[in-house]
Amino acid sequence: MVKNKRVLIAGGAGFLGSYFCDYYVSQDWLVDCVDNLSTSSGHNIEHLKSKSNFNFVRHDIINPLPRKIMTTKYGLVINLASPASPPQYRRLAIETLQAGSQGTLNLLELAKNSNARFCLASTSEVYGDPEVHPQPESYWGMVHSYGPRSMYDEAKRYAEALVYAYRQKHRVDTVVARFFNTYGPRMDPADGRVVSNFVVQALKGQPLTIYGTGNQTRSFCYVDDLVEGVIKLIDSSQEGPMNLGNPTEFTILELAKKIRRLTSTSSRLVYKPLPGDDPLQRRPDITLAKQRLGWQPKANLDSGLKKTIAYFKEELGIS
Ligand code: UDP
Repeated sequence: MVKNKRVLIAGGAGFLGSYFCDYYVSQDWLVDCVDNLSTSSGHNIEHLKSKSNFNFVRHDIINPLPRKIMTTKYGLVINLASPASPPQYRRLAIETLQAGSQGTLNLLELAKNSNARFCLASTSEVYGDPEVHPQPESYWGMVHSYGPRSMYDEAKRYAEALVYAYRQKHRVDTVVARFFNTYGPRMDPADGRVVSNFVVQALKGQPLTIYGTGNQTRSFCYVDDLVEGVIKLIDSSQEGPMNLGNPTEFTILELAKKIRRLTSTSSRLVYKPLPGDDPLQRRPDITLAKQRLGWQPKANLDSGLKKTIAYFKEELGIS
């Protein structure tokens, strides 16, 4: 358990990052949230700015960290800083590679100098288009190193390798969490992920855009479940990598139909070309998280989607 209750959360203004800021602020930690706002507006942390134990620093982690941060002693450093949706990381391809490499290195140096625990938010994308299903942590993956997803997949794989090297060489207390598809309130309506796209399209009465046949699968984890799992992992002495996600699998077509039903929309389905290297199937094997953390997700897709739909309705001003 971390004793020095001061945390640096890189990417803290993003969809997931803002939940970790909330959590550590509520636990009376001193929270420094670092974000370059390249894929978020800052909207998700607006409510924290009046808190005396919350500090926002607009900074890109690929550049040397500000002196004030480098001279602070943290108990915990969490790295969530990266574009994470396929359209965003394709648009910011080089920045994504830099965030995973130099950005992660800068944060590992900070953790080393602070004697802090370091948590890397990694991803199911390290498994690529998997030939093993569901995916256990022991599977090494099938990633295309030269293609439309490689900037994200390889950046995260490199980041994992850096974490490993810092642990071996500098004895930094590290942990790697591999997040699978996560959704919920505070997703950016425009970030291009499937849940936000479908919900926004349904609420606006626009056609739902199915890429490819819609027979590809994903397993969707409600944000509160994921956050709980990550916090348990950070509080443990585990090193990971550890999968965190919901093991119930759906086709994209099933997801579209569910969202149509839950929003009572008359939106039709339209079929668009499947982007290159889009994984055909994805589902986490969470045996390790169950055994080591006693964690598993609680929310089913219907209940999580209802809360997400309510959030987007309010954001978009739809009654
Ligand atoms: N997808 C879709 N329509 C959309 C957005 C995404 O059919 O409007 C598909 C996408 O091709 C992928 C799946 O939904 O097969 C999940 O996409 P997302 O971008 O959410 O995340 P990924 O798991 O691919 O990183």
